[in-house]
Amino acid sequence: MTKPTAWPRLNLAAGPVQVMEQTLRDAARPILYHYDPAFIELFAGTSGLLQQVFRTQYDVVIMQGEAILGLEAAAAGLLSPGDKVLNLVSGVFGKWFEDFIKRYGGETIELAVPYNDAIDPEDVRQALHANPGVKFLSVVHSETPSGTHNPVKEIGAVAREFGVITMVDTVSGLGGELLSPEEWGLDIAIAGPQKCLGGTPGLSLMSISPAAWDALEARKPEPLRASFLSILDWKSAWLEGKRFPYTPSVSEIYSLESVLEQTLAVGMEQFVNRHQIIAKACRAGVKALGLELWPVREEIAAACVTAVRVPDGIDDAKLRETMRHRYGVMISPGYGELHGKLFRLGHMGPAQAHPTVLAAQLAVLERALADQGYPVQLGAGVGAAMSMLGGWDDGVTGS
Ligand SMILES: *Cc1c(COP(=O)(O)O)cnc(C)c1O
Repeated sequence: MTKPTAWPRLNLAAGPVQVMEQTLRDAARPILYHYDPAFIELFAGTSGLLQQVFRTQYDVVIMQGEAILGLEAAAAGLLSPGDKVLNLVSGVFGKWFEDFIKRYGGETIELAVPYNDAIDPEDVRQALHANPGVKFLSVVHSETPSGTHNPVKEIGAVAREFGVITMVDTVSGLGGELLSPEEWGLDIAIAGPQKCLGGTPGLSLMSISPAAWDALEARKPEPLRASFLSILDWKSAWLEGKRFPYTPSVSEIYSLESVLEQTLAVGMEQFVNRHQIIAKACRAGVKALGLELWPVREEIAAACVTAVRVPDGIDDAKLRETMRHRYGVMISPGYGELHGKLFRLGHMGPAQAHPTVLAAQLAVLERALADQGYPVQLGAGVGAAMSMLGGWDDGVTGS
């Protein structure tokens, strides 16, 4: 029998991420029957907390599957055969969405940039001018595989000018930036608990605008109902009747309630702020080691992960293997076509986005680089990162 692989000391991957002990304790509560009044109350309360975290008055829907379910449900529910969709592509997830557009009969118009860049809202305006009749726009807010983010606020404003309904993958964006679905023009926004909220994987968190509900009802040849992919089933069952279309994942709801409560206890502004501060400190650490950030400009770097170009002479797989097996730190490689070109340092969720963990991550990165003979002064990255964190205070909360 082969020896089982030792578990890591730190899970600093690009999601699912390390979770707080409080979350694990809350997730371990006894399983309630989903029609127990205590569960109905808990589900309703959790939906209310989710609205606060999304910072929206729109309806929220919690679909019972990993965030890909929410992304597919948006395409499946909105698209009628032949509908034109402007798909913005700045990375692997943006490109992937085209498969859903195709699968549900849409016609894709693509606006793409290299996978280390971000979409320019002016280009979106030009594309919508050049392509009259576009009904929908799809965009990824935070491209986790590239460690970049798109200016979704400005893109949403342009879409609204043209009366275009938006589908926004903010799976790793929620919690990393202050959203405002109403102001930004986000019609269906899809997030996941296992990224910046630091929760467990298994749910799709969605905010749905009134225009999106109308568009879901207007789908041809008929609205999508009686399906695991149906967002409308959640409207008629839960939002209108406090019933469930099927049994929800009870423990996942416990865990979601827990992370939403923890997030709101810190306060949305402070929670987002912490992600942005840690991301900036991480970038400073990376640069101090003479490494190159993957995004072309630092302004477009994401708050959730820092993507680092694999330096010449370094074996990416060996570097990550050393970090994982010798020093117990799990980080993520490049994903899809970015594999081998970059690696990603994780700082999403309250368990990752913290000075203690960032220090350990950079220290172990330095150690593993030195093990490969890369010229690195041990402590240089950690020092540069820590020099930026003097204002940090675990005790400070904000609105
Ligand atoms: C994590 C993530 C998803 C969900 O996909 P996974 O199967 O969990 O990897 C979708 N979009 C983005 C931008 C993500 O970061």
